[in-house]
Amino acid sequence: MQPDQILSTIARQVSECKRCPLHYSRKKAVPGEGPAQAEIMMIGEGPGFYENEQGRPFVGAAGKFLDELLETCGIARKDVFITNVVKCRPPGNRDPQPEELEACSDYLDRQIEAINPRVIVTLGRFSMAKFLPGVKISEVHGQSFWRNGRLIVPMYHPAAALHQPSLKASVERDFARLSEYVQTARQRGQAAEKPVLEEKEETTGDSPAKDQPTQLSLF
Ligand code: SF4
Repeated sequence: MQPDQILSTIARQVSECKRCPLHYSRKKAVPGEGPAQAEIMMIGEGPGFYENEQGRPFVGAAGKFLDELLETCGIARKDVFITNVVKCRPPGNRDPQPEELEACSDYLDRQIEAINPRVIVTLGRFSMAKFLPGVKISEVHGQSFWRNGRLIVPMYHPAAALHQPSLKASVERDFARLSEYVQTARQRGQAAEKPVLEEKEETTGDSPAKDQPTQLSLF
């Protein structure tokens, strides 16, 4: 099966899925959108109110900010595959529960396998934990890490900057480096080569001490 066919199959399965209780609050499932050949995959947390209404990821205020961030770093949203760790809206935008993350993980794993992106940008701590378990987002945001031949770049969720304006400059600074990371991943050709595991690529120099600990529990 071709990657776009696999993504279509996953989208159909997600729309009918009852693997976890989040299907009760689902109006429209949000499997994700973007090209099957995307070099960059962005993975957020879960659909919010507007995403649940429209069946598309990042269409609310956080999505508008994400669009602006992508524009400033010269990357078109249409070239990025955007999805979430859970495909149905957690009621009241609460955090997804461990059993919900587990139930939904197979869909995301299959999307990653089909798309085979060079760079995965995690938006928020839930998607970050999938690739970089045990780290603190305040200490690693904006840095890059090789995992299984892909560059993983953890970033704050755009909603974090909307809720905590003090984070906005940090988010903008992290996104400003995205083109550089894509270039690095292209040069290494990691998607097609033997995986390089557990290699920390580089750091931004952002000190955890710059961030407010109280901001981190949400994101
Ligand atoms: S969140 Fe994922 S596992 Fe849960 S019902 Fe929706 S698609 Fe299925």
